[in-house]
Amino acid sequence: MIVNISAVAYLISGVCFIMALRGLSSPISARRGNLFGIIGMLIAVITTLFNPGILSFELIIIGLLIGAIIGTTIARKIQMTAMPQLVAAFHSLVGLAAVLVAAAALYSPESYGIGNSGNIKIASLIEMAIGVAVGAITFTGSILAFTKLQGLVSGNPVVFFGQHWLNLILGVLIILISIYFVSTQDLLAFWILVALSLAIGILLILPIGGADMPVVVSMLNSYSGWAAAGIGFTLENTALIITGALVGSSGAILSYIMCKAMNRSFFSVILGGFGGESIYKDETGEKSVKPGSAEDAAFIMSNAGSVIIVPGYGLAVAQAQHVIKEMSDALKEAGVKVRYAIHPVAGRMPGHMNVLLAESSVDYDDVFELDEINSDFSNSDVAFVIGANDVTNPAAKNDPQSPIYGMPILDVEKSQTVLFVKRSLSPGYAGIDNSVFYRDNTMMLFGDAKEMVEKIVKSI
Ligand code: NDP
Repeated sequence: MIVNISAVAYLISGVCFIMALRGLSSPISARRGNLFGIIGMLIAVITTLFNPGILSFELIIIGLLIGAIIGTTIARKIQMTAMPQLVAAFHSLVGLAAVLVAAAALYSPESYGIGNSGNIKIASLIEMAIGVAVGAITFTGSILAFTKLQGLVSGNPVVFFGQHWLNLILGVLIILISIYFVSTQDLLAFWILVALSLAIGILLILPIGGADMPVVVSMLNSYSGWAAAGIGFTLENTALIITGALVGSSGAILSYIMCKAMNRSFFSVILGGFGGESIYKDETGEKSVKPGSAEDAAFIMSNAGSVIIVPGYGLAVAQAQHVIKEMSDALKEAGVKVRYAIHPVAGRMPGHMNVLLAESSVDYDDVFELDEINSDFSNSDVAFVIGANDVTNPAAKNDPQSPIYGMPILDVEKSQTVLFVKRSLSPGYAGIDNSVFYRDNTMMLFGDAKEMVEKIVKSI
């Protein structure tokens, strides 16, 4: 009876997770989506705690407490701009959990009801081999992505002779050793499988350059889902299988969307080597820019018919989302048409700008995706670029040698005037100079995004 009730409860939590994903597909319904996710998780956790197989609650409570304390502390302290590396770090834990659960099941199959030592069910062995391989790849891949995003190691692609061959050989070895492990249940084969998968996790992420990081983050998200589904099979836990598959497939779809946003094929991302290498040289003296003041910007924008605001990573760093809303309200009051243009990879995580703008209650009707608004820059009086850089760089269109060549960008330079808010002429994440800075119709507003916009609001 308990089994039936728990099956129904897991099903309900699965439905909640689907509703959560549905809600998260739009900023308007995102809060509701989150609530569904929380309810689904609560039902799943409570149902699991009613599992008659649980012998003692002490360890579970201690684990919950440790996890809750660490999770709450990190969530309270973390800066919004450090979110991508935090997500990567969390993915690594899912991968590690998959490896540990598989190892526990191998050493104590009786506890998992999958047979006896040396006589484990074949289906469980196959699940274990796949789960442990995906888990180990996710673990080391995510740690490397974390160190790249955190700036602990260089974001440059690391490419060396014979790299693809090495990956291919390791891939084949992983398949062979998995087959051997499933047919012999050999403990050493299991650990060799773990070691090979840990190595390929590093090798897969090493050649991926800075510009492809958005895809890596979503790809690891997908891997962590499949790793969780693998644990679900080992533990025979339907909720984990459903959740893992949902995370795995939604992460895969997100990776596809990010690849499209960067105009890259999935395989060229995996094979690596895109972006990251800084080719920026300080152009002092060679090219000149037109610096302007907050008062100049306020004057130009108040007299404009339409302004398109292009937010980027710097907006998040400066936490300028609230003051930018004040600025657009003030301009609207002055009769200016104000819209926001969001590039799919602006910021440091998918949906980063949407989250920030939602936080400051920007009207969703004023927010447009790249495809919807790009043709309007040529009819717009002002493009107000705040803390964005790579997503406006025309090198993506004009320079086949550029590491970001081929990525669709926002055509800000086509506006009558471009106002660029940033602190210096330094490049963005991809490490390349932006020719828009030096154009005749560009005015550079040097300073911290928040402070600059505060001054502009005062002047308006
Ligand atoms: P960029 O990283 O290209 O540029 C951000 C700009 O913000 C910098 O040039 C910097 O210039 C400026 N800036 C930083 N701090 C401040 C501040 N306090 N006030 C004002 N300006 C500031 O950002 P974009 O959003 O244009 O592009 C995103 C890049 O990140 C892309 O290359 C993308 O591939 C990559 N990426 C995206 C991910 C995603 O999922 N969205 C994940 C990982 C990487 P200065 O120092 O002069 O102020």
